Amino acid sequence: MEYWTPMRQHLFAANWKMYKTPEESTSFIQTFKSLLPPDSPAEAVLFPPTTSLPAAVQAARGTSIAIGAQNMHWLDAGAYTGETSPTMLLALGCDYVLIGHSERRQYFNETDTTVNLKLKSALTHSLIPIVCVGEHLAERESGSTANVLQLQVSIALDGIHPADASPIVFAYEPVWAIGTGRTATPEIAEDAHKLIRRSIAETLGSDLARTTRVLYGGSVKPDNAQSLCCLEDVDGALVGGASLDPASFFEIIRNAKGTR
Ligand code: PEP
Repeated sequence: MEYWTPMRQHLFAANWKMYKTPEESTSFIQTFKSLLPPDSPAEAVLFPPTTSLPAAVQAARGTSIAIGAQNMHWLDAGAYTGETSPTMLLALGCDYVLIGHSERRQYFNETDTTVNLKLKSALTHSLIPIVCVGEHLAERESGSTANVLQLQVSIALDGIHPADASPIVFAYEPVWAIGTGRTATPEIAEDAHKLIRRSIAETLGSDLARTTRVLYGGSVKPDNAQSLCCLEDVDGALVGGASLDPASFFEIIRNAKGTR
C-alpha cells in the first residue's frame, strides 16, 4: 500500500533537551530568525527546557517559528510536584508538545500508557503533539522492530477518534541513534516510516496514514539531512544535538528543504 502524498510539508523540530537558559534561548532565536528568509516556507518548531519557554515564546513572536514543550502531564492541575500541565503550556504560548521521547521513556518511567494519556490530553487542549517511537538496539538485533513500532503506535493512538487525529505528528527515533552519532541508513529509516504508517492505517485508517507527518530523529546533522529527508515517507527531522547551534539547525533545514 502506498501512503505518499505531496501534501505533507516538511517539519523541522529542535529538541534542546536540558540545555539553554532563557538568555541563551533568546540569543539562539535572534540568530536563527536572521538566517531564515522572512518568506521561508520551512516549518520550524523549537523545544526549549520548560524554564526557557517564556523567553523563547517572546523571542519568536512575529516569526513563523513555533515553540513547544518537551513534556507535560495529562491533567490540567493536581498534586503532582514538578509537573507542568497542558493548560500551563497554553498559558505560556506553546503550540506544540513532545510526547514519549526515548529519554523520558528510559529515565523517567514514561510508558505507552502515559504516552496515550498525554496524547489525548494534547489533542483536547489543541497542542500539536509530536509522538516519539523507536526501538532499542537489542530489539532491532532480535528482529522485533516491527512489533515494537506497531505496539508503540497502536497504544499511543488507542481510543483516539480519526476525526480528532489530524494534528498528530510522529517521530521515528531509533534509540540506538539518539545522541550516539549513529544514524539509521536511508533504507532503515524508510522501512520504519512505512511500518509506522501501516500501524496508523490499522488504527486510524488509510487517509490519516497518508496525511500524518512522520519525522526522522537520531543524530541528524547538516551532512546527512538531505539523504534522510529526501525519502518518500520522511517528512522532516527531530534534531537534538545539532539543533543547539542556530547555524547548524538552519543548515539542516536548508539542505533538506530542496528535497520536497
Ligand atoms: C533527540 O533528542 O530527539 C535526538 C534525535 O537527538 P540527537 O539528534 O542528538 O540524536
